[in-house]
Amino acid sequence: MNNSPDRKLYAVVGNPVAHSLSPLIHNAWIADAGLNAHYDRVHLTSESARDDLRAMASIYDGLNVTLPHKIAALSAATKSSLEARTVGAANTLVREHGAWTAHNTDVAGFEVAMHAACGDELRNLRVLLIGAGGAARAAAVSLNRSGARFTIANRSVVNAAALANELAPHAHTAGLDDIERLSADADIIVNSASLGHAGESLPPLSPGRGRPFLDLSYGKAAAGALEAAASAGWTRHDGLTMLVAQAAAAFHLWFGVWPDQAKALHACRAAVAARA
Ligand code: NDP
Repeated sequence: MNNSPDRKLYAVVGNPVAHSLSPLIHNAWIADAGLNAHYDRVHLTSESARDDLRAMASIYDGLNVTLPHKIAALSAATKSSLEARTVGAANTLVREHGAWTAHNTDVAGFEVAMHAACGDELRNLRVLLIGAGGAARAAAVSLNRSGARFTIANRSVVNAAALANELAPHAHTAGLDDIERLSADADIIVNSASLGHAGESLPPLSPGRGRPFLDLSYGKAAAGALEAAASAGWTRHDGLTMLVAQAAAAFHLWFGVWPDQAKALHACRAAVAARA
């Protein structure tokens, strides 16, 4: 590693962050592009994440920010993209004149994953979106933009209703008990509920007949839901395509270069398989 003083520094900040594949992705792209830069990980447990993120602008040229600090990342910035403001959270910070500009590349990452699962035409697609957290917010912004029609089903119906009210007034809302019925008419199911992290499963689905089931999680967290969906006849897609695409959009914001996403996806699949 080149430790020269003009080497640029980047990192992913989160809690937990040890499992993050972002250093693997970005350091490979940095090496491929011959850049004098390094990408690290920062475990931030602090309650005052906004102030800590602001202070990090004296060290880092750019940050990715993940759970639970994406809202703090937006408020740590002095400028923000329309997308970050619409979602209400940022996953990418770019240092400009010593302060952060906030972006949300999860929206673009989700869009790439949708196209990979469903093809080019997303207008009028009937989407069953499960979950109403941060990832669902990015998904809702993207689905609105592409003209899809969607229902938000969530454990807490009140959270689904709040998300619809704020970002998707045309979306229907439901609880998880309705998933079997709603999945009968969906062109795709998108699962953004983090229940796999707790070892829990989704309620049963209608027969998939080959329709796509996109889980935004990956690795062990997605394994149970993807297995159950495949058993019911759905075609499985995990969250690695979105992960790599949101990373590529962040890399482009920092370096002005579009990196090789296929190579990164391959490396991520190998890393996830090695952990299994
Ligand atoms: P949040 O914590 O913001 O939201 C979690 C969601 O999952 C909520 O809707 C919550 O429901 C639901 N949920 C949590 N536990 C359970 C459970 N036991 N049973 C049913 N529902 C549950 O997380 P995010 O939205 O940020 O992340 C969700 C998933 O998406 C994570 O696995 C994350 O790793 C992944 N992700 C992937 C990305 C990628 O690039 N591939 C990017 C961002 C996220 P309730 O409202 O009732 O609490």
